Amino acid sequence: MNFDSDYAMTIGGERVSGGATFEVLNPATEAVIARAPDASRNQLDAAVAAARTAFPDWAATPIAERRAALTALGDAVLANIDGLKRLLTAEQGKPHGDAEMEIGGAGMWLKGAATLELPVMVNEDSAERYSETRHVPIGVVGAIAPWNFPMILAMFKVGPALLAGNTMVLKPSPFTPLTTLKFGELAAAILPPGVLNIVTGGDALGPWMTEHPGIDKVSFTGSTATGRRVMQSASATLKRVTLELGGNDPAIVMPDVDVEAIAEELFWAAFRNNGQICIATKRMYVHADIYEPLKAALVTYARTVKIGDGAEQGTQIGPINNKPQYDRVLELIQDARDKGYTFLLGGDAANVPGYFIPVTIIDNPPEDSRIVQEEQFGPVLPLIKFDDLDDVIARANASDYGLGGSVWGVDEDRAFAVAERIASGTVWVNETQHLTPFAAFGGMKQSGVGVEGGLEGLLEYTNTQTIVRRRRPAGALPS
Ligand code: NAD
Repeated sequence: MNFDSDYAMTIGGERVSGGATFEVLNPATEAVIARAPDASRNQLDAAVAAARTAFPDWAATPIAERRAALTALGDAVLANIDGLKRLLTAEQGKPHGDAEMEIGGAGMWLKGAATLELPVMVNEDSAERYSETRHVPIGVVGAIAPWNFPMILAMFKVGPALLAGNTMVLKPSPFTPLTTLKFGELAAAILPPGVLNIVTGGDALGPWMTEHPGIDKVSFTGSTATGRRVMQSASATLKRVTLELGGNDPAIVMPDVDVEAIAEELFWAAFRNNGQICIATKRMYVHADIYEPLKAALVTYARTVKIGDGAEQGTQIGPINNKPQYDRVLELIQDARDKGYTFLLGGDAANVPGYFIPVTIIDNPPEDSRIVQEEQFGPVLPLIKFDDLDDVIARANASDYGLGGSVWGVDEDRAFAVAERIASGTVWVNETQHLTPFAAFGGMKQSGVGVEGGLEGLLEYTNTQTIVRRRRPAGALPS
C-alpha cells in the first residue's frame, strides 16, 4: 500500500473520492501534506445505506467468524505498522515512537476486543417457563473520533461494535483523516462490503451523522462542548449514545514518594503526547513536605526532553496538532502571565514554524485559576501544593469533569484509600493512563455518558432483549 498519496473514502467496500477535498497539514511544518476527500451529504447517505444493507448478513454471521475477521484486521494493522506510523506522525505530530505505540495498540485492541464474550442470562428455567436475556446488535453505528489518538480511539469503537454484529460509518477528525483512510483500505480487503465505511469531511459532516435517521447509535469521542451538541442532535431520533469527553484529571502525590525515582513518570503523566490526552494529568497536587524537591526534580527532568518534529530521531514531544488548539493553549498561558503566576519553565511560544509550545510548568497557581479549572489539553502543567488530605480530595472532586485521576504513594493501601474517594471513571494508583480492551473506561459527570472497553463497553453496542417461552403441556394452548 502507498501511504503517501491516494487518499480515498471507503463506502460499500469501494474506494470513493470526494467531489471536493480539504487540506491536511503537518503540524510540525505547517506544510500541506495531502488533500482528503470532503464527503458530500449524498456520499454520507451512500455510506449509511451501505452499512444498512450490510447489517442483516453481518448480524447473522456466526460470532466466531466476526471474531476471526476482527483478528485478521488487527493483524493487517500490525503488518502495516511502519507505513501507518509515519503517516500518523505526519498528520498528527507525535514522535515516531509514540505513533508506533498507537498503531501497535490499535492492532492489539482489535484482537483483544475480538475475544470478548456476549453473555446470555437465564432468568428462569422452570416447568412453566424459560426466560433468557441476551444482547443483540443495534444496527448502524456512527463513530466520530478526535485528533489526539485518531487510530486507537477509533478502534475502541470498531472492535466491540463489529464484534456485537453492528455495521459502522466512521468519521475521523478533519485534522487527522489520513491514517484512518488507509485503515479503511485495509478493512475493505478483509470485511464484507458495507460493514465498515470511512467518511471524511469538514465541520458539517459530524452534525449530518448525528442527525441522520439511518444511524441507530452514535459513539463519540471528543470535547465536552461538542458532546453536548451530539447528545442534543441524537435526541431527535432517540439514537443510543456513548460519549467519551474531556477531563481535568488530578494527580495526588503523597508525602512518602521517592521524589527522584518518580519525577520522570510524573512528568510523562502530564506531558505524554504533548499533554493532548483526555486522561493526561492536568492538575498535579503535591504534598507540601515534598513540594520543593519534586518541583526541582520535574524541572530538571523537563530540561532534558527533546521537542521537535516527530519524524526526527530522538524527538520526545512533537507540536500541538492544530492551530485552534495551539491558540487555545497559548491563550491559557497568556492568562496565567496576566495574572502574574510564576513560571518554572516555558511560557513563551517557540518562534519557529509549526505549532510548537515549550513544556510549561506553573508554580502553585490559585485553585480557582483557569489553568487549574479548565482542560488545557497541551503542555502546560499547574503544580499545586497541599497539606490536608481531605481538603485536596475535595479540590480534586470540585470539577464538572470526572474522567481519570491518579494517586502516588509508597504506602499503597493509603494511596488506594485516597483513590476510592476520587469521583472519576478511572483512578490509578502509582501509574496512569493504563487502558485495556478488557476493562471499562468512561467518564463520570460531564466527562461522558457510558463506557468503552470491557463487557460493559461491548454491551453499549447492543440492545438488551429478553425472550420468554411459556411451557405448556401439549394441547394445552388456549384456543
Ligand atoms: P472535538 O469535540 O472538537 O471533535 C471531535 C470530533 O467531533 C471530530 O471528529 C470533529 O470533527 C467532530 N465534531 C465536531 N463538531 C461536531 C458536531 N457538532 N457534531 C458531531 N461531530 C462533531 O474534539 P477534539 O478537539 O477533536 O478532541 C479533543 C477533546 O477530546 C478533548 O476535550 C479531550 O479530552 C477529548 N477526548 C476524550 C477522550 C475520552 O476517551 N474521554 C479521548 C480523547 C479525547
